[in-house]
Amino acid sequence: MAELTPMMQQYMETKEEYKDCILFYRLGDFYEMFFEDALTASKELEITLTGKNCGQEERAPMCGIPYHAVDGYLNKLVSKGYKVAICEQMEDPKFAKGLVKREVVRIVTPGTNLNMQALEETQNNYLMCISYFPGKIGISIADVTTGDYYLTEVEDLRRLSDEINKYMPSEIICNDAFLVSGADVEDLKNRLGITLYSLDSHYFDDDGCKKCLMRHFRVQVLTGLGIEDFPVGMIAAGALLQYLYETQRTSLAHFTHLYPYLTSKYMLLDSSTRRNLELTETLREKQKRGSLLWVLDKTKTAMGARTLRSYIEQPLIDAVSIAARQDAIEVLCDNAVSRDEIREYLNPIYDLERLLGKVSYKTANPRDLTAFRNSLEMLPHIKTVLHDLDSQLLQGIDKDIDGLEDICRLIENAIVDEPPIAIKEGGIIKEGFDETIDSLRRAKTEGKNWLAKLENDDKERTGIKNLRIKYNKVFGYYFEVTNSYLGMVPDDYIRKQTLSNAERYTTPRLKELEDTILNAEDKLFALEYDIFCKVRDTIAEEIERIQKTAKAVAALDVFASLSLTAERNKYVRPKINEKGIIDIRDGRHPVVEKMIVNDMFISNDTYLDNNKNCISVITGPNMAGKSTYMRQAALIVLMAQIGSFVPASAANIGIVDRIFTRVGASDDLASGQSTFMVEMNEVANILRNATPDSLLVLDEIGRGTSTFDGLSIAWAVIEHISNRKYLGAKTLFATHYHELTELEGKMSNVNNYCIAVKEKGDDIVFLRKIIKGGADKSYGIQVAKLAGVPDMVIDRAKEIVEQLSDNDITEKVQNIAIDNKTDKKTAKKYDEVDLEQISLFDTVSDEDVIKELKEVDVTNLTPLDALNTLYRLQSKL
Ligand code: ADP
Repeated sequence: MAELTPMMQQYMETKEEYKDCILFYRLGDFYEMFFEDALTASKELEITLTGKNCGQEERAPMCGIPYHAVDGYLNKLVSKGYKVAICEQMEDPKFAKGLVKREVVRIVTPGTNLNMQALEETQNNYLMCISYFPGKIGISIADVTTGDYYLTEVEDLRRLSDEINKYMPSEIICNDAFLVSGADVEDLKNRLGITLYSLDSHYFDDDGCKKCLMRHFRVQVLTGLGIEDFPVGMIAAGALLQYLYETQRTSLAHFTHLYPYLTSKYMLLDSSTRRNLELTETLREKQKRGSLLWVLDKTKTAMGARTLRSYIEQPLIDAVSIAARQDAIEVLCDNAVSRDEIREYLNPIYDLERLLGKVSYKTANPRDLTAFRNSLEMLPHIKTVLHDLDSQLLQGIDKDIDGLEDICRLIENAIVDEPPIAIKEGGIIKEGFDETIDSLRRAKTEGKNWLAKLENDDKERTGIKNLRIKYNKVFGYYFEVTNSYLGMVPDDYIRKQTLSNAERYTTPRLKELEDTILNAEDKLFALEYDIFCKVRDTIAEEIERIQKTAKAVAALDVFASLSLTAERNKYVRPKINEKGIIDIRDGRHPVVEKMIVNDMFISNDTYLDNNKNCISVITGPNMAGKSTYMRQAALIVLMAQIGSFVPASAANIGIVDRIFTRVGASDDLASGQSTFMVEMNEVANILRNATPDSLLVLDEIGRGTSTFDGLSIAWAVIEHISNRKYLGAKTLFATHYHELTELEGKMSNVNNYCIAVKEKGDDIVFLRKIIKGGADKSYGIQVAKLAGVPDMVIDRAKEIVEQLSDNDITEKVQNIAIDNKTDKKTAKKYDEVDLEQISLFDTVSDEDVIKELKEVDVTNLTPLDALNTLYRLQSKL
């Protein structure tokens, strides 16, 4: 250390404090990195690695980036999961005595990045903190750009995973216990791309967390925050706040509220269901187009878009809150003109939440403030329109929207209409706002007149016809005399610079004017900057009012958007019931109907309840529309529970506590498990966690293994679900095992449906209509033909299918009687099953045997077949 140059010593001392960060060390117009950091950064950022003499024998590896281009490089490192500490010069090198003072002013991590270029406008950038304790997990979530700040608690890792998938944070911080909790940390990092840091245990100290929260929210006791029922969540929130203070190093004034919530207040959606239902992005392309959000999102503001996304991510389960949202949408539909007017006023509204973040971080520039003013100007108009809209929720929004006229006026009076982005070069403050500024400006313009006069006077005095006063940044003001007039230069001219064709001079008078003018300008710029900061700070003092307004505007934007979508897409307001009945008339898939050309989407009814219509087994050929039909029902229920209207002619939706889906596993291949394993994992999850109030969508269970295994698993799953003692959850179950249609007869709450197709000679036509009953054929060959499989192969397949009669399997299936279960205990479990149906089914009359006997084609029977047939017939008697 001793042999290092003083600057390198300063660097090393700073670096010692920020070992886990890449240190951006400001040196003049560059941020420099040294040693290990330089090696990493030069590789990651593809910039040249050089060296610097640091006093030691070997040169220190070094690389640098120009300060004006820092954002791009910073984002690149942060998005790769690095932490970057930004170390600035804390004094002007011109005035520094000795080494310039430097300090780390901010640490940037994926979850705390403020750079708008790196962030998606319509999406929050969340940081999540997990405080793991066996049996209880505290979760806190924050968005540093908007000041959103939540906390909750969950019981186990699965629920934690649900919350992670709901928020999709870019960064998770946690205690060490979480790393050894059995959570799939690698999956979080690799598949979900979340940066994960475990923090030192002092962050999770109960007392420290409490103190940090109380200090931040300026309360004497924690009960004031309403989080006393979340002791473990409190620790997560406290640790998160400490982490933010440490990385952000500002007041965090925009963190005005900490919202505790119970996960049981919302519909539970696990990660695969979120993905399968394509709520906010599509399964394959991972894009918004093609998702439910894409269909519903007609919001005008970024805040509205983020809020709508959060509504979709967490549907409600409380009938009253759902009805309130529905009322708001209905009123906006009934008053379409007012709604459209509101949407026009919403149009110019800037992202108030993120702007507040900038105000709080003191990074808002003059243009941000004028954009802010333009937004605020819309508020009174919105309130006027809202005034006449008769819905409790909308009236609440009206009340929450503060006209903010004072702030609007302040910006209007203080800031010029088209200010520059730079804050230290003047031209920001409007005339008439501050007397000193006005007089300094006058001095500046008058200075120009003085110069013009001096130029004229000296032209006359010296006789130099082309004498000019000019200015540049290095030499200031000077007289310029071209070579041909050099002989006429008077004695009092002092030479400043020689050019090839001219000489530059100054005079005592010119120097005097220069001082006055440049001083005035320096003073003016400094004062303008000062006043601008004051205006910004005044706004910062009103953060709570503005934040409340921003939230209200965002909600209004969402309801206006949902109302418009309802109108354009011909949605209806669903009735909501708490009896568990799902009755959808002429339902449509909200996304598929948009993707299909010429409005050719065929609507279908759905009816499910917890009694006779608990499980629908849906058969039909591939491509018939089974998945579409089932997802449509799930999406309609989900839409109803976010308060939206739904694509149907009428609907009555029984609130569900969870939706589970199990569909094709192709998307899980990346996780490295076999398709079948993934499928069974999900089935296990569903059977363990579903309740009678859940809605299950199961598509082709058991496809990943041999026919018999698959069929048996599917069969047993349906039996389990249908039994009210175990589950009795409403279920849509699509299968290509026709054998499962046998279950309709065996269990009173299972019903068969199929999607109709019409045979046309050798081909089939998909009718897309769901009808009662089971499909009798799979039409696999016809579908293969439709898909363009060569005729030769199709013909051969037909031959084979004729040889492979599946009579055997059908028959075996028919013989599985539910009360034939291996032991009495199991048999007893199924006492709910409609016995009448079973006995009817199980009784095989002698006539049936005779009929079958008559049909045996004896001439074509092999001896073995004959024996088997005989055995089978005998066992039926
Ligand atoms: P399955 O699950 O039976 O194999 P899908 O649900 O994947 O079939 O549907 C196949 C295609 O049929 C869908 O991509 C869609 O284009 C079309 N389709 C499905 N249902 C309908 C419908 N009700 N009306 C019009 N087209 C539909």
